[in-house]
Formats: sequence, C-alpha cells, structure tokens
Amino acid sequence: MAEPSTNELMDKLVSLCKRRGFIFPSSEIYGGINGFWDYGPLGVELKRNIKDAWWTDIVRKRDDIVGLDCTIIMNPKVWEASGHVTGFNDPLVDCRGCKARFRADKVYTVIISQGGNVLFSAGVEAENGEQARELSLKKANSKTRRSIEQHDGQLVFCTFRAENPREGGAHARLLLTHHDPKGNEFQETSSEGHNCLCPNCGGHLTDARKFNMMFKTYVGAMEDSSSLAYLRPETAQGIFANYRNVLDSSRVKVPFGIAQIGKSFRNEINPRNYTFRSREFEQMEIEFFCHPSEGSKWYEYWRNERFNWYVGLGLTSSKLRLRDHETDELAHYARSCADIEYAFPFGVSELEGVANRTDFDLTQHQKFSGRDMTYYDDETKERYIPYVIEPSGGVDRAALAFLCEAYCEDTAPDEHGKPQPRTVMKLHPRLAPVKVAVFPLVKKDGMPEVAVKIHADLKAAGVATFYDEKGAVGRRYRRQDEAGTPFCVTVDGQTLQDQTVTIRDRDSLEQVRIAADKVVECVQQRMK
Ligand code: ATP
Repeated sequence: MAEPSTNELMDKLVSLCKRRGFIFPSSEIYGGINGFWDYGPLGVELKRNIKDAWWTDIVRKRDDIVGLDCTIIMNPKVWEASGHVTGFNDPLVDCRGCKARFRADKVYTVIISQGGNVLFSAGVEAENGEQARELSLKKANSKTRRSIEQHDGQLVFCTFRAENPREGGAHARLLLTHHDPKGNEFQETSSEGHNCLCPNCGGHLTDARKFNMMFKTYVGAMEDSSSLAYLRPETAQGIFANYRNVLDSSRVKVPFGIAQIGKSFRNEINPRNYTFRSREFEQMEIEFFCHPSEGSKWYEYWRNERFNWYVGLGLTSSKLRLRDHETDELAHYARSCADIEYAFPFGVSELEGVANRTDFDLTQHQKFSGRDMTYYDDETKERYIPYVIEPSGGVDRAALAFLCEAYCEDTAPDEHGKPQPRTVMKLHPRLAPVKVAVFPLVKKDGMPEVAVKIHADLKAAGVATFYDEKGAVGRRYRRQDEAGTPFCVTVDGQTLQDQTVTIRDRDSLEQVRIAADKVVECVQQRMK
C-alpha cells in the first residue's frame, strides 16, 4: 500500500488521535487555546508508559541516579541565578500587514530579480545536504508554493518559515540553482529576520524585539513586584536548587545523577506542529554530576545512551540522528551539546538535547544563594564544583515521535479471510496503552464467561487489558490495531473443547493457539 505523503500523514495521525482518544485540543468546547493539548484515555496511558520506561531505565535500574520531584513555582531568585530572567528571550518580528508574529531567526527570504523563462530548483544548504534540500521546498508555505507556480518558474519572493534552523533558518544558507536554456546566471539575494517578507502575506516585518518566554504569576494576595513568581520553563533548575539537599541526605557519591519528570511552561511565540511546540509540556531531565576531568567521557556516554534508549523503544535509527552543535551554536557555558533529532513528517527536529554544561549552573547558584556547592571527595581529599552533563528530553515530543513512527496502513484478512485495509499503530509493547484485548468469538455458548475470566486474570496480574464482545471479530481486531494493542486473545468454539485460545500478533498477524490458563504468562513473556 502506498505510503501517505508527509502532510497527509500528519492529518491522518491528528484525526486518529482525536477519534481514538489519544490527544484532544485543550478546552475544546470553548474553542481551544493555542499551544495547549490534553491527553485522552489512550494518550494518557501512552504518556505514562513513556515516563515509566524512562524512570525504570534511568532511576530504578541504576545505582548512580536518584529521583526528585520539586515544585513548579520556586523562589524567583532561582531564575535570576539561572539566567532565565534576563536571557530567556526569543527575538520576535511582527508583520506590519497581517500582524502575524514570528521568531526572527526562523523566517528566511530569498528574492530573485529576473524575468524570462526560468527553470529553477530551490534548496537549503546544510550539513546533511540531502535531507535538508529535500525538506526545503515542502517548508515553503502554500502561498509561496502557489506564487512559484503562478510565476511559471520565476521566483519573485520565497519565504521559508523553518522549524529547525539547520533546515532554513539563521544557520543555513539558501541555495538556488536555476538555469535558462542558454545557461545564464541569475542575481539572488537572501536575508533573515526583519529583512524578510512575511511568510503569510508577503508584507514587511518590524525590527526584532526581545520577549521573555516565562509565564508570570503572583504568589499571595498582593499583585506587585514583591509577589512576582514564574512557572518553571524547565525542570533542571529545581534539580540544581536541591543538589545540596540530595548530597547531604542520601549516600550518593560523584559521579551521580538526579532525575526528574515534570511539567514545564514556555510562552512560545508560535506554538505549532501539533504537540511538538506547546506552551505547557512535560520534561524528563537528568543532571549527571561528575569530576571536571571526566566531563567529556560522561558526555559521550549519555549522548549514546539516550540515543539508544529511543531506538530500543522502536524509533528506527534511520529516522533518528545525533547532531553535534557547531561551536557558534553552543550556549556560552556549554562545552559541547548534541541534539537527538527525529525525522517528523514536518521536518527533522529536536527530541532531546544532551549538553556538557560544565560547572556553570552550580557556580551560579553558589553565587546567588551564598550556599556552598562544592563536593568533597574523601578518598582523593579534593574539593571541587562538579561538572554536569544534562540529557533533557520532552515527554510530549517523545510521544509524538512514537506515534508518527507507529502509524502504518496495510491490509489484514477479515473473518472470511478477505484482505481489508487497516490502520495500525505499531507501538512498542512497553509503550502500548492496552497490552492485550480479550474477545469471545460470539456472545453465546459460554464463550463470554471464559473470556471474562481471562480478562480478570490479566487485570489481577497488572496487565492493561480490554474486553470487547460487540460486533464482528474482524472489526474488533481492527479497532485494537488502531489503538496499538499488540495482542488479541480470542475464545472460540475450540476453547470449550480443549481449553485453548488464539493469540494474535498485531504486526505479523500470526495467530497461534495457547492454553487458556497460560495467557497471562504468555503475554508477559511477549511484552519483554
Ligand atoms: P527548541 O529549540 O525546539 O525550542 P530547546 O532547545 O529550547 O527546544 P530545551 O530547552 O533543550 O529545548 O528543552 C529540552 C527538551 O524539552 C526539548 O528537547 C524538548 O523535547 C522539550 N521541549 C522544549 N520546549 C518544548 C515545547 N515548547 N513543547 C514541547 N516540548 C518542548
């Protein structure tokens, strides 16, 4: 079956997520609110499974990482020390015509002045030429594409709005190769930010302005500067603020890490690409403290460890890549940084960042709080401020990547053996919201009683299960395929004679018979 195009894929995925209860627009009955999303019955299980997988692999299975859960609102001095009060800014430009607002580093315009019969191709030159080049024209919005077509090849202006700077923003150079039949060269100019034309209407943009992305609130009855507080824009600072407490209360020794999962809030200027850029989202962050001389070693370790974690949960490594930041892209305090990026249908974009943040954060907090942030090693008798390696991922972006990767259209035989098209979410069994569905083939002859008992046994064993006895069994299978359920167990006529049931595999469609009293064991085995 033909693969859906990238735009089509996103539309289909968004509609499936709404229809089947993965993701809903927040407060939809009032028209929603831009940049906020709710997770329905299936979505909340998927998200919880992602967080559980991370927590199990990062905290429970290791001896060198402990967990933390700190508040969203903290003393505002935390954000002065971290640099967020002064530095958490995005440069903004507004369109003077249609009033649309963009991040200045993410609009990019090319203007070519040339008449005549021009054939051209446009592309963005980036590190990984091939992929970026392919993406670039798709990134041109529909108005731009229409304008290119209407001019019969004469590009008058072409504005790209890029999600990822690598593919058409501040760090990329837009290349236009175009030739007329005589091989003549053409003039081209390109610009960024406020020199651009508006990607929506082609109007002029204002100069760039700074905008702080932290949500503000007031603590207590007074609404003045003394009660001003912020909703945290990252969970990391709560870890630094508690570093001393953890060190003094548990028996951790450097190298060790502190892990936290929790909500973060950013007043994103332009929330987009479904849940990818939201204003309220969840992060899974580790701050791993080590001796400064071991910073590079642990950075390499976490870079690979985190990449492999996504691969192990089903993101194929061909769609996933590790991109090391260029020196000019690094934050001033970071020694090195790599993004784990995924080829979403709307472009290759960041899933998680891994950074060697040196001793910057602890030094800042020592300075602003006056508390000692040094670590004393009793064996070497050395005192120092540890370096920190930070793998920082987003739960919502991970969920979106797993959903994109899982979406698949193929065929499966119906109850008469006739192939029928189906949509299937091939989620890793660890992440699937429901692990096994249990059906009686028909709603009579004692089949429901046996199926209900299997369903109850699975529940008692803590396996997420769903019981369904309504409608044709082929339809029931397809409903579960769409929900991503990896296994379906069916009680049929033969069960009543030999106490066996069928277990169907969502991906291979293979059905085998197993003993009815071995279902729990068999499902647990297959989920590993
Ligand atoms: P971007 O460049 O896409 O804005 P960032 O580099 O600012 O991301 P970080 O500050 O490194 O992101 O945050 C760590 C992780 O938190 C990101 O890799 C991403 O998974 C998640 N995250 C950050 N901002 C958002 C958002 N607005 N919506 C959803 N997830 C986000």
